[in-house]
Amino acid sequence: MVTRLEPGLHLIATPIGAARDITLRALDILASADVLAAEDTRTLRHLMEIHGIALNNRPLVPYHDHNGDQAGPRLLAALAEGKSVAYASEAGTPLISDPGFQLARDASAQGLTVRAAPGPSAVLAALTVSGLPSDRFLFAGFPPSAGGGRQRFLEGIARSDATVILYESPKRIHRLLEELAQHIEDSRPVALCRELTKRFEETLRGTLREVREQLEERDVKGELVFLIGRASEEKAGAEDLDAALRRALRDHRMKDAAAMVAEALGLPKRDVYQRALKLSEE
Ligand code: SAM
Repeated sequence: MVTRLEPGLHLIATPIGAARDITLRALDILASADVLAAEDTRTLRHLMEIHGIALNNRPLVPYHDHNGDQAGPRLLAALAEGKSVAYASEAGTPLISDPGFQLARDASAQGLTVRAAPGPSAVLAALTVSGLPSDRFLFAGFPPSAGGGRQRFLEGIARSDATVILYESPKRIHRLLEELAQHIEDSRPVALCRELTKRFEETLRGTLREVREQLEERDVKGELVFLIGRASEEKAGAEDLDAALRRALRDHRMKDAAAMVAEALGLPKRDVYQRALKLSEE
Protein backbone atom coordinates (compact mmCIF):
# COMPACT_ATOMS: atom_id res chain seq x y z
CA MET A 1 0.00 0.00 0.00
CA VAL A 2 1.33 3.44 -0.89
CA THR A 3 1.11 5.97 1.97
CA ARG A 4 0.45 9.64 1.30
CA LEU A 5 3.62 11.53 0.59
CA GLU A 6 4.48 14.70 2.49
CA PRO A 7 3.50 17.75 0.43
CA GLY A 8 6.51 19.56 -1.04
CA LEU A 9 9.19 19.28 -3.67
CA HIS A 10 11.04 15.95 -3.65
CA LEU A 11 14.33 15.97 -5.55
CA ILE A 12 14.99 12.43 -6.67
CA ALA A 13 18.37 10.99 -7.65
CA THR A 14 18.11 8.50 -10.50
CA PRO A 15 20.65 6.00 -11.90
CA ILE A 16 23.72 7.17 -13.84
CA GLY A 17 23.91 3.82 -15.62
CA ALA A 18 22.62 0.71 -13.90
CA ALA A 19 18.83 0.96 -13.66
CA ARG A 20 18.78 -0.83 -10.31
CA ASP A 21 20.77 2.00 -8.73
CA ILE A 22 17.68 3.71 -7.43
CA THR A 23 16.69 3.75 -3.80
CA LEU A 24 13.54 2.10 -2.48
CA ARG A 25 12.53 5.46 -1.06
CA ALA A 26 12.93 7.16 -4.44
CA LEU A 27 10.63 4.50 -5.92
CA ASP A 28 8.07 5.08 -3.13
CA ILE A 29 8.12 8.80 -3.90
CA LEU A 30 7.70 8.21 -7.61
CA ALA A 31 4.79 5.90 -6.88
CA SER A 32 2.99 8.30 -4.59
CA ALA A 33 3.74 11.91 -5.64
CA ASP A 34 0.72 13.91 -6.84
CA VAL A 35 2.74 15.44 -9.68
CA LEU A 36 5.81 14.10 -11.45
CA ALA A 37 8.29 16.41 -13.12
CA ALA A 38 11.37 15.50 -15.10
CA GLU A 39 14.15 17.00 -17.16
CA ASP A 40 13.41 14.25 -19.69
CA THR A 41 9.92 12.78 -19.32
CA ARG A 42 10.69 9.80 -21.56
CA THR A 43 13.64 8.74 -19.44
CA LEU A 44 11.57 8.99 -16.26
CA ARG A 45 8.69 7.01 -17.78
CA HIS A 46 11.13 4.34 -18.88
CA LEU A 47 12.67 4.14 -15.41
CA MET A 48 9.20 3.87 -13.85
CA GLU A 49 8.27 1.11 -16.30
CA ILE A 50 11.40 -0.85 -15.40
CA HIS A 51 10.43 -0.67 -11.75
CA GLY A 52 6.72 -1.36 -12.30
CA ILE A 53 5.44 2.07 -11.27
CA ALA A 54 2.32 3.25 -13.09
CA LEU A 55 1.70 6.86 -13.98
CA ASN A 56 -2.01 6.47 -13.15
CA ASN A 57 -3.10 9.63 -14.92
CA ARG A 58 -0.85 11.81 -12.79
CA PRO A 59 0.59 14.85 -14.53
CA LEU A 60 4.15 14.37 -15.83
CA VAL A 61 5.59 17.83 -16.42
CA PRO A 62 8.78 18.51 -18.40
CA TYR A 63 11.09 20.90 -16.54
CA HIS A 64 14.45 21.64 -18.12
CA ASP A 65 16.85 24.47 -18.97
CA HIS A 66 14.69 25.77 -21.81
CA ASN A 67 11.22 25.85 -20.26
CA GLY A 68 11.87 26.75 -16.61
CA ASP A 69 10.06 30.09 -17.00
CA GLN A 70 6.79 28.35 -17.84
CA ALA A 71 7.10 25.02 -16.07
CA GLY A 72 8.56 26.49 -12.85
CA PRO A 73 5.49 28.59 -11.92
CA ARG A 74 3.21 25.66 -12.77
CA LEU A 75 5.08 23.37 -10.39
CA LEU A 76 5.27 26.06 -7.70
CA ALA A 77 1.49 26.57 -8.00
CA ALA A 78 0.94 22.84 -7.45
CA LEU A 79 3.23 22.97 -4.41
CA ALA A 80 1.40 26.01 -3.05
CA GLU A 81 -1.86 24.01 -3.29
CA GLY A 82 -0.33 21.46 -0.93
CA LYS A 83 0.63 18.89 -3.55
CA SER A 84 3.69 16.69 -3.54
CA VAL A 85 5.91 17.08 -6.59
CA ALA A 86 8.69 14.60 -7.44
CA TYR A 87 11.41 16.00 -9.70
CA ALA A 88 14.11 13.93 -11.42
CA SER A 89 16.79 15.03 -13.85
CA GLU A 90 17.79 12.80 -16.73
CA ALA A 91 20.39 10.92 -14.70
CA GLY A 92 22.01 11.28 -11.32
CA THR A 93 21.18 13.97 -8.79
CA PRO A 94 19.15 17.02 -9.84
CA LEU A 95 20.99 20.38 -9.58
CA ILE A 96 24.41 18.72 -9.99
CA SER A 97 25.33 20.10 -13.46
CA ASP A 98 21.64 19.60 -14.15
CA PRO A 99 18.42 21.63 -13.86
CA GLY A 100 16.54 22.07 -10.61
CA PHE A 101 18.46 24.80 -8.78
CA GLN A 102 16.03 27.62 -9.61
CA LEU A 103 12.99 25.48 -8.83
CA ALA A 104 14.39 24.34 -5.48
CA ARG A 105 15.47 27.87 -4.60
CA ASP A 106 12.10 29.37 -5.52
CA ALA A 107 10.27 26.69 -3.57
CA SER A 108 12.30 27.25 -0.42
CA ALA A 109 12.05 31.05 -0.82
CA GLN A 110 8.28 30.64 -0.82
CA GLY A 111 8.42 28.65 2.40
CA LEU A 112 7.57 25.37 0.68
CA THR A 113 9.04 22.08 1.80
CA VAL A 114 12.05 20.84 -0.19
CA ARG A 115 13.29 17.30 0.41
CA ALA A 116 16.04 15.18 -1.14
CA ALA A 117 15.83 11.51 -2.01
CA PRO A 118 19.60 11.07 -2.27
CA GLY A 119 21.26 8.50 -4.49
CA PRO A 120 23.54 8.23 -7.50
CA SER A 121 25.74 11.03 -8.71
CA ALA A 122 28.77 10.68 -10.95
CA VAL A 123 30.77 13.04 -8.67
CA LEU A 124 30.79 10.72 -5.68
CA ALA A 125 30.95 7.50 -7.68
CA ALA A 126 34.10 8.82 -9.38
CA LEU A 127 35.66 10.07 -6.16
CA THR A 128 35.16 6.71 -4.46
CA VAL A 129 36.94 4.73 -7.20
CA SER A 130 39.59 7.29 -8.15
CA GLY A 131 42.16 6.42 -5.49
CA LEU A 132 42.58 10.16 -4.82
CA PRO A 133 42.16 11.74 -1.36
CA SER A 134 38.49 11.94 -0.49
CA ASP A 135 38.74 13.98 2.70
CA ARG A 136 38.48 17.31 0.88
CA PHE A 137 37.21 17.77 -2.65
CA LEU A 138 35.97 20.45 -4.99
CA PHE A 139 33.35 19.65 -7.59
CA ALA A 140 33.84 22.17 -10.37
CA GLY A 141 31.37 20.87 -12.98
CA PHE A 142 32.05 21.33 -16.70
CA PRO A 143 34.99 23.63 -17.54
CA PRO A 144 33.99 26.81 -19.40
CA SER A 145 34.54 26.17 -23.10
CA ALA A 146 36.75 29.17 -23.93
CA GLY A 147 38.14 32.60 -23.10
CA GLY A 148 39.22 34.22 -19.88
CA GLY A 149 36.71 32.18 -17.89
CA ARG A 150 38.47 29.01 -18.95
CA GLN A 151 41.91 30.40 -18.08
CA ARG A 152 40.77 31.42 -14.61
CA PHE A 153 39.11 28.07 -14.14
CA LEU A 154 42.30 26.17 -14.98
CA GLU A 155 44.39 28.45 -12.80
CA GLY A 156 41.97 27.86 -9.93
CA ILE A 157 42.31 24.11 -10.33
CA ALA A 158 46.09 24.35 -10.25
CA ARG A 159 45.91 26.19 -6.93
CA SER A 160 43.27 23.99 -5.30
CA ASP A 161 44.29 22.24 -2.12
CA ALA A 162 41.48 19.73 -2.55
CA THR A 163 40.89 16.89 -5.01
CA VAL A 164 39.18 18.56 -7.98
CA ILE A 165 36.37 16.75 -9.80
CA LEU A 166 35.34 17.79 -13.31
CA TYR A 167 32.77 16.65 -15.81
CA GLU A 168 33.95 16.71 -19.40
CA SER A 169 32.72 15.48 -22.76
CA PRO A 170 34.76 12.86 -24.64
CA LYS A 171 35.16 15.31 -27.52
CA ARG A 172 36.94 17.82 -25.30
CA ILE A 173 38.96 15.61 -22.96
CA HIS A 174 42.17 15.70 -25.03
CA ARG A 175 42.15 19.47 -25.18
CA LEU A 176 41.46 19.70 -21.44
CA LEU A 177 44.43 17.47 -20.59
CA GLU A 178 46.70 19.40 -22.91
CA GLU A 179 45.72 22.72 -21.35
CA LEU A 180 45.90 21.38 -17.81
CA ALA A 181 49.49 20.33 -18.48
CA GLN A 182 50.31 24.02 -18.88
CA HIS A 183 48.97 24.77 -15.42
CA ILE A 184 49.86 21.80 -13.24
CA GLU A 185 52.94 19.67 -12.98
CA ASP A 186 53.13 16.46 -15.04
CA SER A 187 53.60 14.39 -11.92
CA ARG A 188 50.27 15.36 -10.33
CA PRO A 189 48.11 12.27 -9.66
CA VAL A 190 44.90 12.21 -11.68
CA ALA A 191 42.12 9.76 -12.59
CA LEU A 192 39.73 9.47 -15.49
CA CYS A 193 36.49 7.57 -14.87
CA ARG A 194 34.51 6.49 -17.87
CA GLU A 195 31.02 4.99 -18.05
CA LEU A 196 30.64 4.51 -14.30
CA THR A 197 28.25 1.69 -13.34
CA LYS A 198 27.87 0.74 -17.02
CA ARG A 199 29.10 -2.19 -19.08
CA PHE A 200 32.31 -0.55 -20.28
CA GLU A 201 33.21 1.10 -17.01
CA GLU A 202 36.89 1.95 -16.78
CA THR A 203 39.11 4.05 -14.53
CA LEU A 204 42.56 5.21 -15.59
CA ARG A 205 44.81 6.27 -12.72
CA GLY A 206 48.32 7.69 -12.74
CA THR A 207 50.18 10.95 -13.08
CA LEU A 208 48.91 13.54 -15.52
CA ARG A 209 51.70 12.53 -17.88
CA GLU A 210 50.84 8.82 -17.66
CA VAL A 211 47.14 9.31 -18.22
CA ARG A 212 47.81 11.63 -21.16
CA GLU A 213 50.08 8.98 -22.66
CA GLN A 214 47.44 6.30 -22.19
CA LEU A 215 44.89 8.44 -23.98
CA GLU A 216 47.16 9.73 -26.71
CA GLU A 217 46.06 7.42 -29.50
CA ARG A 218 42.60 6.76 -28.16
CA ASP A 219 39.28 7.95 -29.43
CA VAL A 220 37.60 8.34 -26.04
CA LYS A 221 33.89 7.54 -25.90
CA GLY A 222 31.17 7.62 -23.26
CA GLU A 223 30.57 9.72 -20.17
CA LEU A 224 33.59 10.99 -18.26
CA VAL A 225 34.62 12.36 -14.92
CA PHE A 226 38.16 13.70 -14.57
CA LEU A 227 39.78 14.09 -11.15
CA ILE A 228 42.94 15.90 -10.15
CA GLY A 229 44.76 15.22 -6.91
CA ARG A 230 46.23 18.07 -4.91
CA ALA A 231 49.94 18.71 -5.05
CA SER A 232 51.71 17.04 -2.13
CA GLU A 233 52.37 19.63 0.55
CA GLU A 234 56.07 18.93 0.70
CA LYS A 235 56.39 19.33 -3.01
CA ALA A 236 54.21 22.39 -3.08
CA GLY A 237 56.51 24.04 -0.56
CA ALA A 238 59.65 23.32 -2.57
CA GLU A 239 58.49 24.21 -6.03
CA ASP A 240 55.79 26.75 -5.35
CA LEU A 241 57.05 30.18 -6.22
CA ASP A 242 59.31 29.51 -9.20
CA ALA A 243 57.11 26.88 -10.77
CA ALA A 244 53.96 28.93 -10.32
CA LEU A 245 55.70 31.93 -11.83
CA ARG A 246 57.04 29.95 -14.78
CA ARG A 247 53.55 28.63 -15.51
CA ALA A 248 51.92 32.02 -15.18
CA LEU A 249 54.57 33.68 -17.36
CA ARG A 250 53.69 31.38 -20.25
CA ASP A 251 50.32 33.07 -20.67
CA HIS A 252 50.53 36.43 -18.91
CA ARG A 253 52.57 39.58 -18.89
CA MET A 254 55.12 39.76 -16.08
CA LYS A 255 53.13 42.20 -13.98
CA ASP A 256 49.93 40.18 -14.22
CA ALA A 257 51.73 36.90 -13.66
CA ALA A 258 53.42 38.27 -10.52
CA ALA A 259 50.14 39.66 -9.18
CA MET A 260 48.32 36.37 -9.75
CA VAL A 261 51.02 34.26 -8.14
CA ALA A 262 51.40 36.66 -5.22
CA GLU A 263 47.70 36.40 -4.53
CA ALA A 264 47.64 32.62 -4.93
CA LEU A 265 50.58 32.06 -2.55
CA GLY A 266 49.84 34.90 -0.17
CA LEU A 267 53.21 36.59 -0.81
CA PRO A 268 54.07 40.30 -1.19
CA LYS A 269 53.59 41.43 -4.79
CA ARG A 270 56.91 43.28 -4.90
CA ASP A 271 58.94 40.22 -3.89
CA VAL A 272 57.17 38.04 -6.41
CA TYR A 273 57.69 40.64 -9.15
CA GLN A 274 61.43 40.79 -8.33
CA ARG A 275 61.63 37.02 -8.55
CA ALA A 276 59.78 37.07 -11.88
CA LEU A 277 62.32 39.59 -13.21
CA LYS A 278 65.16 37.28 -12.12
CA LEU A 279 63.57 34.26 -13.73
CA SER A 280 63.08 36.10 -17.00
CA GLU A 281 66.78 37.05 -17.01
CA GLU A 282 67.95 33.46 -16.46
N1 SAM B 1 23.31 15.17 -12.39
C1 SAM B 1 24.31 14.25 -12.84
C2 SAM B 1 25.07 13.70 -11.62
O1 SAM B 1 24.55 13.80 -10.51
O2 SAM B 1 26.13 13.14 -11.80
C3 SAM B 1 25.25 14.87 -13.86
C4 SAM B 1 24.57 15.36 -15.09
S1 SAM B 1 25.66 16.11 -16.25
C5 SAM B 1 24.52 16.78 -17.41
C6 SAM B 1 26.24 14.73 -17.16
C7 SAM B 1 27.74 14.50 -16.95
O3 SAM B 1 27.93 13.75 -15.75
C8 SAM B 1 28.38 13.66 -18.03
O4 SAM B 1 28.76 14.44 -19.15
C9 SAM B 1 29.59 13.09 -17.30
O5 SAM B 1 30.61 14.05 -17.20
C10 SAM B 1 28.99 12.85 -15.90
N2 SAM B 1 28.42 11.50 -15.83
C11 SAM B 1 27.12 11.16 -15.74
N3 SAM B 1 26.98 9.83 -15.70
C12 SAM B 1 28.23 9.29 -15.77
C13 SAM B 1 28.74 7.97 -15.80
N4 SAM B 1 27.94 6.92 -15.73
N5 SAM B 1 30.08 7.81 -15.88
C14 SAM B 1 30.91 8.87 -15.94
N6 SAM B 1 30.47 10.14 -15.94
C15 SAM B 1 29.15 10.36 -15.85
